[in-house]
Amino acid sequence: MARGFKTLDDMGEVAGKRVLVREDLNVPMADGQVTDDTRLRATLATVTELADRGAIVLLLAHFGRPKGRPDPTLSLAMMTRPYSQLLGRPVRFVDWDGAAAAVATLRAGDIAVLENTRFFAGEEANDPQVVETMAALGDLYVNDAFSAAHRAHASTEGLAHRLPAFAGRAMEAELDALDKALGAPEHPVAAVVGGAKVSTKLDVLQHLVARVDHLIIGGGMANTFLAARGVAVGKSLAEHNLAGTAEAILQAAERAGCTVHLPYDVVVATEFRANPPTRTVNVHEVGADEMILDVGPAAVEALGDVLKNCRTLVWNGPLGAFETPPFDAATVSLARTAAALTREGGLVSVAGGGDTVAALNQAGVADEFTFVSTAGGAFLEWMEGRALPGVAALSA
Ligand code: ADP
Ligand code: MG
Repeated sequence: MARGFKTLDDMGEVAGKRVLVREDLNVPMADGQVTDDTRLRATLATVTELADRGAIVLLLAHFGRPKGRPDPTLSLAMMTRPYSQLLGRPVRFVDWDGAAAAVATLRAGDIAVLENTRFFAGEEANDPQVVETMAALGDLYVNDAFSAAHRAHASTEGLAHRLPAFAGRAMEAELDALDKALGAPEHPVAAVVGGAKVSTKLDVLQHLVARVDHLIIGGGMANTFLAARGVAVGKSLAEHNLAGTAEAILQAAERAGCTVHLPYDVVVATEFRANPPTRTVNVHEVGADEMILDVGPAAVEALGDVLKNCRTLVWNGPLGAFETPPFDAATVSLARTAAALTREGGLVSVAGGGDTVAALNQAGVADEFTFVSTAGGAFLEWMEGRALPGVAALSA
């Protein structure tokens, strides 16, 4: 356990053993079809390895928000077919009713999806009785769902205390990548924090200023910082009530020796729609009727030079309103610079966040980053420096 948690390498002989594997099968579906199978693909390494080693693989996962009671429209039964197709192996479905008898019929190497964990009222409350019900079905527990690790639920946390517990391959890869980015990173470290609002990322900013050498602030959040510094930001999205907070973060950064980079040129428009007339201006030249919708090209070029001198990059949040062209330009350009530096071997680049992943895909560089986390909430809590209960329980 060199890393503080055990992995599949530490499980010993698993042939014939029942292994409860917590995965994230909460994928978007339409008409019984999976519309984005990213999360399903992330489970394949662990599931195939365990099955090949002769384990009886029992997948535990939640789906949607069934409010603690069975809801046929949210049954994981509908996942067995698409999952089996992706896996290229048969997948059984096991309902909670009669689960013990059904599991008893499974053989070494079999794979089954158990019913939605949130059909139990006590799943989200981490009720010991629900933990017991699940634990009775298995001999060993593997948590492979980093994206659910910020919740202390029966299937994500409770079970780890009740059965011998191990991190799956996807969990292991995620924890290793995150450790390289913020746990024990090579310096200098740059963080890009963008997105709409400071208020949703205050804890992230406060955690980062003490740990990174360069804090690059973009997106709507940058407007709040600019406004706090006395810049007139016109009709831009900005949280003027957070001026004091923004100022305190800038001061904390200064004390910690962290250089904060705010844009000095910006792209503005008077209407927020696709391809409106725009102007690229110095931040001090924003008109009263204009909105800042992207970081300007001169600032982006300077930010690229900052990254060239860094060894590690952690990125959450787009630099502009990237869904609406042309306000994706800064995000795409800096993402491509980061990807090129990563490819050349000089930079470890880790990114996460729902819109950030979408923006990196839009830039065509998600595969070129060292690691891209699709974990959303768990990724943000990790960026806030919080201990994730599902991860902590693996280390106990
Ligand atoms: P993530 O999901 O990666 O954590 P956020 O949800 O915090 O990112 O932020 C993404 C949103 O921020 C996007 O919808 C984007 O349009 C918006 N945004 C970025 N810059 C601006 C801006 N200057 N004005 C308005 N919205 C912006
Ligand atoms: Mg978002």
